[in-house]
Amino acid sequence: MGRLDYSIAFNNEPVPEHPNCLIFSAWDEQGNEIASNMEYFSVGGGFVLSRAELNAKLEETHEVPAGMAAAQSDDERIPYDFSTGDQLLELCKETGKTIWEIIAANEAVLHREDGGIARVNTHLDLVWDVMRECVTDGISTKGILPGGLQVNRRAPQLYALLLEQQDDPTSGFSAMEWVNLYALAVNEQNAAGGRVVTAPTNGACGIIPAVLHYARDFLPDFTRETARRFLLTAGAVGMIIKQNASISGAEVGCQGEVGSASSMAAAGLAEILGATPAQIENAAEIALEHNLGLTCDPVGGLVQIPCIERNAIGAVKSINSARLARMGEGTHHVTLDNAVQTMAETGRDMHTKYKETSIGGLAKTLGLSVSQVEC
Ligand code: SF4
Repeated sequence: MGRLDYSIAFNNEPVPEHPNCLIFSAWDEQGNEIASNMEYFSVGGGFVLSRAELNAKLEETHEVPAGMAAAQSDDERIPYDFSTGDQLLELCKETGKTIWEIIAANEAVLHREDGGIARVNTHLDLVWDVMRECVTDGISTKGILPGGLQVNRRAPQLYALLLEQQDDPTSGFSAMEWVNLYALAVNEQNAAGGRVVTAPTNGACGIIPAVLHYARDFLPDFTRETARRFLLTAGAVGMIIKQNASISGAEVGCQGEVGSASSMAAAGLAEILGATPAQIENAAEIALEHNLGLTCDPVGGLVQIPCIERNAIGAVKSINSARLARMGEGTHHVTLDNAVQTMAETGRDMHTKYKETSIGGLAKTLGLSVSQVEC
């Protein structure tokens, strides 16, 4: 051993419990094994679990019927405890508050020792600032993305084209082109190791910023306060999905990443469009429903193909979902909870090769698994 590149062995046969496992073993200078089989699992959204923690999580999930993971709040102090979409809607009805107000009240209590709601707002503003910086950096950085796939950054070129033709009524360009631009810019930054907001994961980090930029540029009266309401509402949906299914491509495929981000963004936008809580829940449901079954198959193990474009498609889907829901009354056959439960069950049934392993789907068709990309 000694050289790092010889010390990592990629194994395309995942351990049965989870596709994203890293096993550490260590040897001393004499070659005696001093630690072995220390297993850690990357379960998405930046979370890493030890073997004991993963086992506890799996046990917890299996105790609960129909794919709904145990969803008790771990903080009894919050004023509005919920774990499902139905419970959240019930709270809105009981209190007369909308979704963002419920989340803001909870967060204010959780942060009461470090500034309360002022602290929460400061953080939300920072999130929005970082998203804007990411777009600015993405549209101004040209070149080939690292990793060996030779993927060209498209955002700068698209931005130049949009600026050039935005006043030409015959160009056929609309808000959709700008949404595509924003999503590409953020995901190209992510693919290049730039600073992004994990929302809710890095692979799906372009959707929420793209939809927020759409709201800023194409809806009236957008302020920092609007962005806060969007993010708090989107956060509520993210919590429900994470508690009852997963936001991890390694656990449930891309429906958990792009599907979750799309659902969150749809809810946030619906709030900005003046939707009722029932319409917001409907928006989140529509976006998630039409991402069900989406597999995770990043070519060469890089978050580039299909991930970058998939965020643009997901952002447009969010906007359409919010607009569709806003036109209705919030009554619908499939609830957000139904869609989340379906995602969990579909994810469990999904073959491991479609869960971030890069051995199925597009990764297989293009013939490039994780270890085959020439850097
Ligand atoms: S394909 Fe996989 S890696 Fe790419 S965005 Fe979807 S879940 Fe993430």
